[in-house]
Amino acid sequence: MTPATRYGKPAADILAESRALLRENAEHLARQRRLADLLSGRGAPRERCACCNARLDGAGPFQRRGIDYLLCPECGHVQTRLAPPADQPVDFGAVYPPLSGAEFASRVERIYRPKLDWALEALAATDGPPPLERHWLELGCGYGFFLAALRDAGARRFMGLDACRELVERANTALGENRAALVDGGLARAVRDSEAEVYAAFFVLEHLADLPDFLAAVAEKPEGVAFVFSVPVFGLATVLEDCSDRHFARNLDGWTHAQMFTERSLGRFLELAKCEQVAQWVFGQDVLDLGRMCALAAENYPPALRREVDGALARMADAAQQAVDRAHFSDARHIVAVRRGAPRNG
Ligand SMILES: [Zn+2]
Repeated sequence: MTPATRYGKPAADILAESRALLRENAEHLARQRRLADLLSGRGAPRERCACCNARLDGAGPFQRRGIDYLLCPECGHVQTRLAPPADQPVDFGAVYPPLSGAEFASRVERIYRPKLDWALEALAATDGPPPLERHWLELGCGYGFFLAALRDAGARRFMGLDACRELVERANTALGENRAALVDGGLARAVRDSEAEVYAAFFVLEHLADLPDFLAAVAEKPEGVAFVFSVPVFGLATVLEDCSDRHFARNLDGWTHAQMFTERSLGRFLELAKCEQVAQWVFGQDVLDLGRMCALAAENYPPALRREVDGALARMADAAQQAVDRAHFSDARHIVAVRRGAPRNG
């Protein structure tokens, strides 16, 4: 079966978030520089690939923004040479600020409802009950945006899990009902313990310290169980981060993201999970990053010239991003995949 591929999503959907990144650039950049210094030489060298678990003996390091990375010779996964120290987990409660009710509703509508609509369409073409009647579990539900989209669409059997207590509380408050719970013992165990028919995980899997164990847990699920997920991918945005040190690294900073998929490692990821891709949506915000990079470069231009630069970048954003998406060089992939064949341990 040839997976259905969709390209592109309007930049207007996330323009507010991108403008905020520009306003907060100096602050994020200073923090990343501090962290790069702090992490320098800390953490154990990775012996095995964070994605496919192959030995990394043959992988020579390359440097970007003061941090060493490795490219897995087996699967093409990009990862920091040193595994992040276990005693310094990312504090997502600190990374993600509180949102007003209006901001919450706006993100659900602009960002999460389109993801759900796309996933429902892809899942409707797979075997099983109508997608909204299936049992859903979102891994890493964060603020609860996707849970809200599910509820609004009419789903009744759905839950979310998150490792951050503060986010769980925020999600339940925003939803007005207890749909989010604190994950206990990691996401691989959560998948093993769950009877869900659809698992969702948006920009979560790249944060797992033990991805191979998570893939093994997925491979143990019964045939037909579906996975709807998105991950960041090494693309134009990642390379732009090496073209200028004026803008902070949104894509691969070696800290919040210490590993990055490529299309090749994503293919290996699905093989190891014994999943077949049924749909993908290729879009990103690489060109918004380019705009941020150019806006910072133009900061010292006379205002009239700066407005010209800003205007041109805004006019070209969607067409340029479409070209990046169609070249499969954008910074993210959204995937719907289904477990195929007998469970690995079943
Ligand atoms: Zn690998």
